[in-house]
Amino acid sequence: MSRLESTINRLIAQKVLLDHAAALIDTREGPVFELGLGNGRTFDHLRQIFPQRDIFAFDRSIRAHAGCIPDAEHMVVGDMRDTLRLVHPRVPAKPVLIHADMGAGDPTADLATREWLSPLVAAWAADGGYVLSDRRLELPGFTEIERPAEAPVSPHILYQKV
Ligand code: SAM
Repeated sequence: MSRLESTINRLIAQKVLLDHAAALIDTREGPVFELGLGNGRTFDHLRQIFPQRDIFAFDRSIRAHAGCIPDAEHMVVGDMRDTLRLVHPRVPAKPVLIHADMGAGDPTADLATREWLSPLVAAWAADGGYVLSDRRLELPGFTEIERPAEAPVSPHILYQKV
C-alpha cells in the first residue's frame, strides 16, 4: 500500500470511527476531549457531530487553522503531561469520548507517549465512555470495540471503559 493510500485510509477510518463513537454515546451526557488539536481538522469534525457538547482541545501550542480554534475556556495549551493532571477545575464532568490523535510516526516516540498518556486517559474516561486512539494504549479494564465494516484498515483502536 502506498503512503498516499494509507493516509487516505487513515483519514477515512478516523471519520468513520468518530461518527461511530458519536452514535454510541448519543444518549449519554458529558464532554469530549480532543488530545492533539494540530491543525484543527478533527476538532472541526467533532464540533459538527457534537454541537451540544463541551469539547476540550489540548495541544502544546496553537497552530490550527484560524477558523478551527476553540474558545479560551475549551482550549488547553501546554504539555499534556501537565495539563491533563491539572485541568479538572474547568471540566464539568469526565469525558464520554476521548479522541487521542497523537501518533508521531516513530515507533519509539509512540511507545514513550503510550507510557505517560495511558494512565491519564484511563483516569479521565467516564465509566462506559469511549476512547478512540490512533495508537495502541495500555488501558487495563477497557475493552476493544469492533470496528464498523466501512472503516478501512488503519492503526485506530476504539476502546470502551467497562
Ligand atoms: N487532530 C489533529 C487534526 O486533525 O488536525 C492532528 C493532531 S497532530 C497528529 C498531534 C498533535 O499533538 C500535535 O499538534 C502536537 O503538538 C500535539 N502533541 C503531541 N504531544 C503532545 C504533548 N505531550 N502535549 C501537548 N500536545 C502534544
